[in-house]
Amino acid sequence: MHRRQFLSVLAASGLLSRPFLPSGAGHGPSSADELYALVLGSVQDAGFPQVGCYTELCDLGRELQAAGRGRFVSSLAFVEPAAERFYLVDATPDITRQLDLITDPAFRRRAAERRPFDGIFLTHAHIGHYAGLAVLGNEGMGIRNTPVYCTEAMAGFLATNQPWQFLVDQGRIELRPLATDRWHRIDPLLEVQLWKVPHRDEFADTVGFVFRGPDASLLFIPDINAWARWDRNVVEAVSSVDVALLDGSFWSMAELPGRSVEEVPHPLMTQTMDALQRVVEEGHTRVVLTHLNNSNPALVEGGPQQTEVARRGFGIAREGMRFGL
Ligand SMILES: [Zn+2]
Ligand SMILES: [Zn+2]
Repeated sequence: MHRRQFLSVLAASGLLSRPFLPSGAGHGPSSADELYALVLGSVQDAGFPQVGCYTELCDLGRELQAAGRGRFVSSLAFVEPAAERFYLVDATPDITRQLDLITDPAFRRRAAERRPFDGIFLTHAHIGHYAGLAVLGNEGMGIRNTPVYCTEAMAGFLATNQPWQFLVDQGRIELRPLATDRWHRIDPLLEVQLWKVPHRDEFADTVGFVFRGPDASLLFIPDINAWARWDRNVVEAVSSVDVALLDGSFWSMAELPGRSVEEVPHPLMTQTMDALQRVVEEGHTRVVLTHLNNSNPALVEGGPQQTEVARRGFGIAREGMRFGL
């Protein structure tokens, strides 16, 4: 789509005049008052636009940023307004602007006190998922005593490699490795389970998180090689939760010229929708695709791929979406 056409689609949809999309799937007003997930980002590790990338798509990313509708690297916050508790899921290179999406006054007070989060959950050791920790140290916010929840291998990586080790040594982050495949209570409202997923594990391992609140559950898997290579059945896994935010890196093989589908290190959106079409039609689980690569045409708001995703009953993550838990 041409940029001007794209912007007119945005204008027609009212998106340009609104800072964020309205709330996503709520499970009743009471649950969202107690605990909700807030989408802080929805694109692949290196962002949108990507550095030095001047494709038509990345230029659209620049237009979005200029319009105050920029997309950030995939990440979530959990907000407990009454309890004034806050959590971050993955610390991305876009963290500075992403935290501005948490507008609760209690968050800003806590940030001024250098203890904004009750915990930070990390899926794995690729730059889009933990490099944001860097600006929480000495040169940036200078956080204190913040629990970091991750796997044993990820904790080991952070504890033995600089500059992350320095964050540990200074008491800025406190590593809390969690065992996989069982529930861990984080606070009176929030529980979490870690599910290992196959991915390029150069430095540590990779997990998805299942979060559970009083009313609903949410699965977050921003990176996975392929659903077929997972030791879980994807249909059963996704059916077991209320909301699933899943790896939507690529739309189709057209983005990967010269590569076979077997070598693509992520499921294609079209494959994921095929695998989960029945789950979505059953109506219990809301499936939302995230972690879009800068080549993914589903980034074009109002474009044919987004129309197709919506027609099939799926969603695409967008900054500002909320899911009550
Ligand atoms: Zn990633
Ligand atoms: Zn990754």
